[in-house]
Amino acid sequence: MIDCWIGLGANLGEPLAQLTQAANAMAALPQCQLVATSGVYGSRPLGPQDQPDYLNACAHLRTELSAHALLTALKGIEADMGRVTTRRWGERLIDLDILLFGDECISEDALTVPHKGLEQRAFVLGPLMDITPEHFTLPNGTPLARLWQQCDKNSVQRVQHRLLS
Ligand code: AMP
Repeated sequence: MIDCWIGLGANLGEPLAQLTQAANAMAALPQCQLVATSGVYGSRPLGPQDQPDYLNACAHLRTELSAHALLTALKGIEADMGRVTTRRWGERLIDLDILLFGDECISEDALTVPHKGLEQRAFVLGPLMDITPEHFTLPNGTPLARLWQQCDKNSVQRVQHRLLS
């Protein structure tokens, strides 16, 4: 079993309901076990500003799937939930990203792990801090806590203690 962390985001429809539905769908994936979910964080959109604010969270999964098979499964959940592709960094019903997959480093267009932007984004680092062990480090050795210290924490607000209780 490999420990991995999945980022969840939504800013259309009912974001909290969609994050919850996606977390439950991940818990039901074959060869996967949902270990924990983070708090839920609100933030302004990264890209175009004429879109609603985001809610983000993170899930800790243990899986026997490969990283590519997990990505396919996550895209299946997005599709089942009715996600349609819009503009880059545009609004979305649900977005599921593989943030970390064990210590694996993958650099492909279709799958980059650790996820690009992870090191800078408070809406990723905050949720990750909630559900990673103390002194957790990225595959490159950088302590997660240092990244959380350095990022713009004012850009996020925790709105719920845990996505799934
Ligand atoms: P997004 O708009 O965030 O859903 O990302 C679009 C594309 O990013 C997808 O088609 C994925 O194949 C690709 N991608 C690259 N790395 C990742 C990753 N770590 N997690 C999820 N999608 C990824």
